Amino acid sequence: MPSKEKDILNIDIIKEMLNQKKARMKLNLAACASCSLCAESCFLFISKNQDPKYMPSYKVIHSLGKLYKKKGKVDKAALNEMRDLVWKNCVLCERCYCAFGIDIPSMIAFTRSILRSQGISGVYPHTLGAPEDASDENQIKSS
Ligand code: SF4
Ligand code: SF4
Repeated sequence: MPSKEKDILNIDIIKEMLNQKKARMKLNLAACASCSLCAESCFLFISKNQDPKYMPSYKVIHSLGKLYKKKGKVDKAALNEMRDLVWKNCVLCERCYCAFGIDIPSMIAFTRSILRSQGISGVYPHTLGAPEDASDENQIKSS
């Protein structure tokens, strides 16, 4: 497939998916924007020397939050940037605890489904102990 064709996104589908959960997700994102209480319950955040990119709130704000902010009008490069956050930086282990009842894994899973709708899928789990630049072939392809 020519690369130009591969880069074409269906923004209407992204918008439709975002709208399906808009009220709840926007409330959740607003709460997470000023909070990072669950950060230390994420083993990846701890194992990565507290790199903010592994913080649960960072992961949703810079993926799903960005999609809502831009009302789904994003390009392929932006979706590719989100891919690492929602696949490589999260294994959906559900260990992150939110005292306010916000379900970070479901937000990450929702973001993954939006990316998949545009033909983008990531690799996971984050291969603990593997080099940061391990090639995709060395990791498990997600479905
Ligand atoms: S999920 Fe809960 S604890 Fe974690 S950042 Fe969001 S509001 Fe804070
Ligand atoms: S579900 Fe994701 S964000 Fe939550 S603890 Fe597991 S790896 Fe961290």
